[in-house]
Amino acid sequence: MATNEPAVQAQVDQILAKVHEGNRISYDEGLYLYQHAELLDLADAANARRQQLVPGDTVTYLIDRNINYTNVCVTDCQFCNFYALPGDKEKGYVNSKLILGNKIKEALELGATRILMQGGHNPDLPFEYYTDLVSWIHKTFPTIEINAFSPSEIQYMSEIGGKSWHETLTELKAVGLMGLPGGGGEILDDEIRKRVTPKKIMTDDWFGVMKVAHELGLITTATMVIGFREKLENRMNHLQRLRDEQDDSLKRFGTGFNAFISWTVQIEGTPLGRSRFASEYGGTSTEYLRHTAIARIFLDNLPHISASWPTQGAKVGQMSLHFGADDFGSTMIEENVVSSAGAITKASPLMLPSEMHRQIREAGFIPAQRNTNYDVLKVFDAVDSEAELKSIQEIEQAASKQGNWAGVTLIE
Ligand code: SF4
Repeated sequence: MATNEPAVQAQVDQILAKVHEGNRISYDEGLYLYQHAELLDLADAANARRQQLVPGDTVTYLIDRNINYTNVCVTDCQFCNFYALPGDKEKGYVNSKLILGNKIKEALELGATRILMQGGHNPDLPFEYYTDLVSWIHKTFPTIEINAFSPSEIQYMSEIGGKSWHETLTELKAVGLMGLPGGGGEILDDEIRKRVTPKKIMTDDWFGVMKVAHELGLITTATMVIGFREKLENRMNHLQRLRDEQDDSLKRFGTGFNAFISWTVQIEGTPLGRSRFASEYGGTSTEYLRHTAIARIFLDNLPHISASWPTQGAKVGQMSLHFGADDFGSTMIEENVVSSAGAITKASPLMLPSEMHRQIREAGFIPAQRNTNYDVLKVFDAVDSEAELKSIQEIEQAASKQGNWAGVTLIE
């Protein structure tokens, strides 16, 4: 039941009709929906857009592991509780190849097809560290897809190595890099970035690095974090810039971002969490769902939207599948950055494939395993199919055999 004034609701209905007819909406129309549309009307339109872009009832997920190769960082993001300053012998680390190799082996035994590797801006690591690391992983574990280094890390290692973004990404691709995660995007509007992440890559450079990645055919995703006391206009600025850049990449290179994922900022133990505005940071589940729907409606040129269960919880993750998301994200296995600032999952989260299937089915969809490129590897369309049982049993037996899973949280 709409609670808007009739004239306002008429305007909302007119914009929503454009979405249902498969048409693009403008910045002003997106903002108007954000300000005035009823939540369930947004869900309805977001699902229509989802069906236009990804028809059907399948919801994909990925078995992968997040790995943070170092937490040493000089960037001092105001929302980060993960990093250690250079010289901090107690908290700072750079994982050895032995540790990284063991993490990848464990992930492979759990059925992983990908690792997502990110780290701090560590001034002690030369450029060759990164090419050597990717090359070593690729040669040692040739089947694992390597998705690594956010635009911010690429810019930092380019500076360290005295190379252009193009040279940096070309060299990394040559030794096995498959794609870049969209991390470090937060809000891609410098008005907000200058306040919460002033030493990090700014908007033009974030998109500049991604543009080169698209030119080189690397797989990329786009992220967005809300809840920095930004205005709705700041959020729309992020979405508008993303849609424009996607149009440009698709036109010039025939490829662009293949997915978008957003979540609410987590601030436990961070400078934002200690500030006098602490209670105004973050976001409710409703805001998250509203934003997911607006993004799905507005980003008509970006195929996939992922749910963020590690920050929002599995149940809100399920709900986001009815607000335009068509992907349940990854099994994670390990996550250190958002968890350290208070994400709902805390510690190291793991959602086993059987749990992924249960969550997706409970929400009314059919689970399907995918790879980094969103190619469907296996559709699990029958609950008791032999393939599903065998696949899950193998993975879960592997998980139970591993002796070093202390602290892993199984998500319910
Ligand atoms: S979010 Fe990343 S770049 Fe920012 S301080 Fe933390 S580790 Fe460094």
